[in-house]
Amino acid sequence: MSRNQNLYHILSQRFPADGEQPFIIDQLSYAELEASSARMANYLLSLDLNSGDRVAVQVNKSAQVLVVYLACLRAGLIYLPLNTAYTQAELAYFFQDAGPGLIVADQASVKTLAQQQGARFETMAGLLAHSATAPAQFATVHSSADDLAAILYTSGTTGRPKGAMLSHSNLAANALMLHDYWGWDQQDVLLHALPIFHVHGLFVACHCVLAAGASMIFLPSFKVEQVIEQLPRATVMMGVPTFYTRLLASEDFSAQPCHAMRLFISGSAPLLASTHQLFEQRTGHKILERYGMSETSMLISNPLHGERRAGTVGFALPGVDARIVDTNNKAVSEGVIGSIQVKGPNVFQGYWQMLEKTAEEFTDDGFFITGDQGLISEDGYISIVGRAKDMVISGGYNVYPKEVELVIDAIEGVKESAVFGVADADFGEAVSVAVVLDHTVALSPEQIAAEARETLAAYKVPKLVHFLDELPRNTMGKVQKNVLRQQFAS
Ligand code: ATP
Ligand code: MG
Repeated sequence: MSRNQNLYHILSQRFPADGEQPFIIDQLSYAELEASSARMANYLLSLDLNSGDRVAVQVNKSAQVLVVYLACLRAGLIYLPLNTAYTQAELAYFFQDAGPGLIVADQASVKTLAQQQGARFETMAGLLAHSATAPAQFATVHSSADDLAAILYTSGTTGRPKGAMLSHSNLAANALMLHDYWGWDQQDVLLHALPIFHVHGLFVACHCVLAAGASMIFLPSFKVEQVIEQLPRATVMMGVPTFYTRLLASEDFSAQPCHAMRLFISGSAPLLASTHQLFEQRTGHKILERYGMSETSMLISNPLHGERRAGTVGFALPGVDARIVDTNNKAVSEGVIGSIQVKGPNVFQGYWQMLEKTAEEFTDDGFFITGDQGLISEDGYISIVGRAKDMVISGGYNVYPKEVELVIDAIEGVKESAVFGVADADFGEAVSVAVVLDHTVALSPEQIAAEARETLAAYKVPKLVHFLDELPRNTMGKVQKNVLRQQFAS
């Protein structure tokens, strides 16, 4: 029989020899993780679930949820995490789309939805109570490379979320590579404050810890004071950019609590160069920014050793083939904006039940079209300029929002901005901008447009300037430009 490619099997071979080592500090040792995931796997399989069945999970963050995730891997069931913010109507869509055999939710009201779907229903409390008496041994099933480990719905920033099918080896390849690239070892302690229904908090964060046999401090959510209190016990933190801006906004945050830290990582949304610089001034640490997505896990990263350049996401990770191309799929020159396409063992198996959509997102030579646009510097650093879907075409010219945002953000009195297009009779689309002020100086919309006109070609200058108290963001800190487009449709 060929080698077992089951992700849990691969990770568990790297667990610490001493089972007493904590996986989650004060909550779960590695020995307990093995035993409780075995119990859970035994219980799940007793529910008449078959290999390849989906287990949909919409519950609050806890150590036990990770046990359910790992039990699914061990049992050959496909794990399907769902954002805790989804409403009943949204859940109905996911359940209909994914057809789960089991639905796990905190809300008893989800039970009715489960019944309508013909799926079994359990609460976390029920799962824990029932699995407690199941045997603590379980032989992890044998998986082949393309057996599915998880279906991860994308964040829905550009439309309805799509279910990205990830195989055991997609996830294993990325986990082992990140482990090496970011220099993980058993002594590391990750401060985990991300949600665990998304690629960042579930796969990137937890897999790095598991692959190193390291430990983590597991916080239910990101609270500035709690994070500052826990930082002295940690060596690594992973965050979305808003974590870093919120830390910097606190007067209690300084270099002092970061004394044991070796690495701060940022991703899921663009980190402003100014945040990178302020963070370094305050703590002495250069945040390592990386880039990835649900469909592929991590693709591009700034280096652990060597320059971490603000405003860039660094280099293609080992084993990842990344290229930036024009509309004819031909590589662009340095400094020219193009579409980012990738290939590698981490690239997903396709969108669940969307064969056509999957085919559209791959080139003839097998590259996945990420939907993001970027450029590469002379010395190889890649910058993301935004999503192709957010590009504004005004009077026949392409306007890349990032270029305009950088100019507007630099205006004194501007905290941040988001550029988007709205339909316009004359121009096709008109460049619009939502601006958040920091209130250090008074600014009018006309002044902002006038300042932009000093640096930008006329067609790039926003025709409409809107002031907002804050930009609309989703749980992962991503600016929702579709919300802005709707709100300010002319
Ligand atoms: P959907 O595909 O449903 O519209 P989404 O693309 O936001 O949603 P995710 O897979 O969670 O769903 O996010 C991946 C996207 O996040 C990337 O395609 C990219 O646009 C953005 N992203 C991730 N990391 C970075 C980064 N460091 N800088 C800029 N953008 C980033
Ligand atoms: Mg996407």
